[in-house]
Amino acid sequence: MLPIKVPRLICALTGKNQFYCSKHLSTSTQQFSSDTPKTQHYDIIIAGGGMVGTTLACTLGKNKKLACKKILLLEGGKKSSYQISDKYSNRVVALNPQTISLFKKIDAWKHIARYGTVKQLHVWDALSDAMINFNHDNMRDTVAYIIENDLILNSVNEEVNTLKTVTVENNAKVKECEIGDNPNVLLLENGSCYSCDLLLGCDGANSKVRDSMKAQYVNWSYNQRGVVATLHLKGAEENCVAWQRFLPTGPIALLPLKENMSSLVWSTTPAHADQLLKMSAQEFIDACNEALWKVYKIDGFVGEATKLIDNCLKVLNCPPNAIRQLPPSVCGFEEQSRAAFPLGFGHATKYVGDGVALVGDAAHKIHPLAGQGVNLGFGDIECLNRILGEAVYNGSTITNKDYLLRYETERQRHNVPTMLAVDGIHRMYNTEFTPLVMLRSIGLQLTHALTPVKRSIIGHASS
Ligand SMILES: Cc1cc2nc3c(=O)[nH]c(=O)nc-3n(C[C@H](O)[C@H](O)[C@H](O)COP(=O)(O)OP(=O)(O)OC[C@H]3O[C@@H](n4cnc5c(N)ncnc54)[C@H](O)[C@@H]3O)c2cc1C
Repeated sequence: MLPIKVPRLICALTGKNQFYCSKHLSTSTQQFSSDTPKTQHYDIIIAGGGMVGTTLACTLGKNKKLACKKILLLEGGKKSSYQISDKYSNRVVALNPQTISLFKKIDAWKHIARYGTVKQLHVWDALSDAMINFNHDNMRDTVAYIIENDLILNSVNEEVNTLKTVTVENNAKVKECEIGDNPNVLLLENGSCYSCDLLLGCDGANSKVRDSMKAQYVNWSYNQRGVVATLHLKGAEENCVAWQRFLPTGPIALLPLKENMSSLVWSTTPAHADQLLKMSAQEFIDACNEALWKVYKIDGFVGEATKLIDNCLKVLNCPPNAIRQLPPSVCGFEEQSRAAFPLGFGHATKYVGDGVALVGDAAHKIHPLAGQGVNLGFGDIECLNRILGEAVYNGSTITNKDYLLRYETERQRHNVPTMLAVDGIHRMYNTEFTPLVMLRSIGLQLTHALTPVKRSIIGHASS
């Protein structure tokens, strides 16, 4: 028995890569016993194996400049077992072309067995005649890809399993982390203990890593829930248009999966979301159709203002107002596919600390109305991967704060404006106040008419 002082979670280096975890020592004696768990050391530990954490593990594991780094991915949940079937999962995301390039780079794209393509995004306001279309070069290029979350996770995992430097542990929920005093130490709920040079927090919006960093987190709830379901449609044979209608209670969106099948994301009040989940199948179908088709009374001022702007744009020879397109109608939905998720905003004021960085929803969470949430996370991955590679290539370490701060700066420059824009759109559309309805309608008309503005929006959302 060896008496020892314990300043931290970890108490002694006993070999090359092994520590003993102080949490398991009796505090009265502070002595090792035979059942004291050993702590294994990794260069990089990624906490959280969701879409972002798993893709990060794969990307870093494939980075030749980081080839000598041992990486551990800790996921609190059980191992996912995905089998493709006729049934589509109700959880999907719209991925931008930049994210697809990342999947191609890490060879995960070849495992994505199916996806829906969005060639055009048609957005319209229930309280005015304003509408907008987003598409590339007359619908030749794909604006976004609709893919099931489980399929993404499974596809990236297939590639992770081929990597010798990446170890994955499931049922490995991080209970405590002690960070900032190299090495970082993590204690899991299952009693295991690990240490690492660099800890990457990919543990979602309620991040334990973020809490341990003591990062300030600006957040609020939208008092809305996102109702999802897999819908059967009539009149969507080609089905390559994503539809989004802004209702007074929140936007309803249909994201194409395949011929006559789309995924629903309907943001609405918590009370209405509860009703939508509980109502009979026929009532739910009727509610979806009403949300897409109901004619709302348009305020006289708003109607006149949009007509006036339209005429001015015609005189100026700008592209005419978008032609109203008729959405498909809903004729059924997959049983058991209805579910609802709380919607909120969250942003960590710092993404990095000593030997630690946040990635994905752990750093930032946004409203799904623009389909940007996980795309921002995948953008973080590309940036962090490049910067860590550069650090090693330049003879520095992966924990060098200058490099980590470069990651924070680059990503905050991209993420913050996107998040504020999405939050602003939510606020503009979450009201029936006539001056704001008028303002947003004119804004939508002008954005549609001014092609460079529209191009720059598509460009920003795709990067
Ligand atoms: C209705 C809805 C629709 C959306 N649509 C889109 C869209 O179209 N496009 C888009 O880009 N985004 C969309 N999003 C956002 C997107 O779903 C999220 O941005 C994305 O899931 C975040 O991924 P993540 O891996 O960062 O976090 P999460 O998905 O939250 O994953 C975190 C992982 O960490 C694990 N974990 C948590 N705590 C611990 C711990 N202590 N120890 C170990 N593991 C832990 C969890 O088990 C989980 O697997 C949508 C969101 C909602 C709610």
